[in-house]
Amino acid sequence: MPAEPSFDLAVVGAGIVGLACALAAARRGKRVVVIDRDAQANGASVRNFGFVTVTGQDRSQMWRRALRSRDVWAEVAAEAGVPVIHRGLCMTARRPESVALLEAFLDTEMGEGCRLIEAAELRRTQPDIAGPDLLAALLSPHELRVESREAIPRLAAWLEARHGVVFRRQTAVLAVETGKVTTTAGDIAAEAVAVCPGDDLTGLFPERIAAHAVTRCKLQMLRLEDPGFRLPAAVMSDLGLVRYAGYAALPPAAAVRARLDAEQADHLANGVHLIVVQSADGSLVVGDSHHYGPTPDPFAHEAVDALILDEFAAVFGRPAPPVRERWTGTYASASQPALIDAPMAGVRLVMVTTGAGASTGFALGEETVGQLFGDAA
Ligand SMILES: Cc1cc2nc3c(=O)[nH]c(=O)nc-3n(C[C@H](O)[C@H](O)[C@H](O)COP(=O)(O)OP(=O)(O)OC[C@H]3O[C@@H](n4cnc5c(N)ncnc54)[C@H](O)[C@@H]3O)c2cc1C
Repeated sequence: MPAEPSFDLAVVGAGIVGLACALAAARRGKRVVVIDRDAQANGASVRNFGFVTVTGQDRSQMWRRALRSRDVWAEVAAEAGVPVIHRGLCMTARRPESVALLEAFLDTEMGEGCRLIEAAELRRTQPDIAGPDLLAALLSPHELRVESREAIPRLAAWLEARHGVVFRRQTAVLAVETGKVTTTAGDIAAEAVAVCPGDDLTGLFPERIAAHAVTRCKLQMLRLEDPGFRLPAAVMSDLGLVRYAGYAALPPAAAVRARLDAEQADHLANGVHLIVVQSADGSLVVGDSHHYGPTPDPFAHEAVDALILDEFAAVFGRPAPPVRERWTGTYASASQPALIDAPMAGVRLVMVTTGAGASTGFALGEETVGQLFGDAA
């Protein structure tokens, strides 16, 4: 049997973070192999909204990464034939406290390019977002939305065809050391290794992952039938203001939190907030909830879905369309939003530990490859 060729970079995991590392290395002319235990993408990267979110990301670590990743998505989408289905964000507010928080957000550097519109303008320009209690909305131009379940396979196929990235699927990586990965299909030699295991906390480098106190988060997701209108942008609501660190870390968030504690305690207890995005066929992807633990239960609970749909009705001023599809997903979660750890020379462990891998993965891939091969691109 011919020996496996040697690679410059071996990537463990073919989710968005692994593909991002592969892209960054391939753009430097490196020879890359990506190894994944599944036959096709099956993790968080194909279960998410495909919502590349900039506005609202954590100010210190993630906002700039999101801006950069959004730009890479735009470049790659055009080249790889990944449709960008809509752009921008409409962050709606139903409470004066939320409006005050959005005003404070606009005063930061993160507000650049965004604007706040009052209810009358919202009703005139976005008549389908018609909740009776809406007071205002922040419009952000920065976001884009892809259909992840199609985008991730296309991205992988394009990396293979355009950049010569080699994929080894249905192959589990059992061990990693400097210069070598040991897999269920034999050893692969590589100068450098990027381990991008998603929320597998116990497979590779479990002690390093445990040192960062990483757990897992389960989310419930729904696909609703075409409501008969087209969204101008992704839509969110007040509940998102206390989940997304870019808003939640600003002082006026305390008053929003107090109002929501009083008025939507069940939503908060289940980590429910609202994101609504639209697909090419008009259907809506709507979520989500957040339940934490090392092994969250795999079941979608009707009471939690009801809370999500209740928030949809409050924002759109109409009952949600029928549910076409339900699923759950999990991602790695910790107090810091992402980590690039160096367990040994020439090896990096890369994890997005908040729900933002689609939004920040490309920047993290570039940073990881910069660390492994030297920062000059
Ligand atoms: C329901 C949901 C909604 C979300 N919405 C958004 C959103 O709108 N915007 C956003 O930015 N983020 C969102 N996220 C978060 C985002 O999806 C994740 O942060 C991101 O997908 C993580 O990418 P990943 O490549 O690290 O993990 P994954 O996509 O889980 O990929 C990890 C891969 O590693 C493989 N693997 C692990 N260990 C091994 C091993 N030892 N050997 C071989 N293969 C291995 C797995 O098989 C898997 O394919 C959401 C997540 C969920 C679950």
